[in-house]
Amino acid sequence: MTDIDVLIVGAGPTGLTLACELAVRGVRLRIVDRARTFFGGSRADGIQPRTMEVFADIGILDPILASGDLGPTLRAYRGDEVVWEGRMSEPTEPTPSVPHPNLWFVPQFRTEEALELAKDSGTLFKAQVMRVLWQYGLADGMYNTVYKSLFGLKPVRGRILHTPRYEPVDTVLDVIKASRAVVVLAHPSVYHSMELARELIAAGRLDGVEIDHPRNTPVDRAELTRLAKENGLIVTGGTDYHGINTVTPRPVGAFSTSDEMIARIGDIAKARKATRKKSE
Ligand SMILES: Cc1cc2nc3c(=O)[nH]c(=O)nc-3n(C[C@H](O)[C@H](O)[C@H](O)COP(=O)(O)OP(=O)(O)OC[C@H]3O[C@@H](n4cnc5c(N)ncnc54)[C@H](O)[C@@H]3O)c2cc1C
Repeated sequence: MTDIDVLIVGAGPTGLTLACELAVRGVRLRIVDRARTFFGGSRADGIQPRTMEVFADIGILDPILASGDLGPTLRAYRGDEVVWEGRMSEPTEPTPSVPHPNLWFVPQFRTEEALELAKDSGTLFKAQVMRVLWQYGLADGMYNTVYKSLFGLKPVRGRILHTPRYEPVDTVLDVIKASRAVVVLAHPSVYHSMELARELIAAGRLDGVEIDHPRNTPVDRAELTRLAKENGLIVTGGTDYHGINTVTPRPVGAFSTSDEMIARIGDIAKARKATRKKSE
């Protein structure tokens, strides 16, 4: 117990959320519960707007949206006559100050699963969401119809497809340079970045390129090999292993970087570190 800063007693929604919040801030913690397993039932199932904002902060909004809905429609009868039909609260449109205005119904055990999956990183990936949905028989596999309906791009855009905005390449390269790191452009075929690879190599802004990757095309590999030779670049490789979280799993180590290239990366990194020390 001496290697932790905080002991959380109770692994319900409150304890798990607190654990995620502390973990992303690097606080060492342990969470204990008198129950041996997670709660199988559901009490906290109507999630409030502010709670949705907290879930967005810790990166689990997507699985929460994927496992819930606006709740059932209610009906009131007088004898056989329907006298009212509606919801506990009628849906309203989001605003900048209340981005998730509607009560969102998710069984408590699903919320706890999402929090449990996020515990190490504070971030959930699509594959983790799909794994839980599949495990509970709510999806037809990892990357089939349900995946497309949630995260697909074409022919129909998925309901919760997230399109990340990346920093401009120049900004990223400036940050790498300022931290005196080694710059290797990863699998250029995959993101259609051969044009960018040519441009950056010509401008002398890359130390290396990743060539031995399962999704680099033979034509691009040939060109990258030639460019690397002509410009004295480091050549790397990697399997890009995602385990079952990928459409085409490949064994770890199927693609690799040679010892000679790893040594070159080490040498460049050491030399740059040394210049940093001198300038400090
Ligand atoms: C019938 C019902 C319906 C509800 N509906 C909603 C709803 O729709 N929306 C909503 O937001 N809330 C709802 N609630 C409230 C909701 O259940 C709670 O707000 C929520 O569960 C609180 O989470 P928690 O983590 O604080 O506590 P809990 O979920 O109670 O978790 C506490 C945890 O601490 C553990 N524990 C307790 N004592 C000890 C101990 N001494 N040592 C170690 N571990 C311990 C327990 O085993 C448990 O796992 C409802 C509650 C009930 C009863």
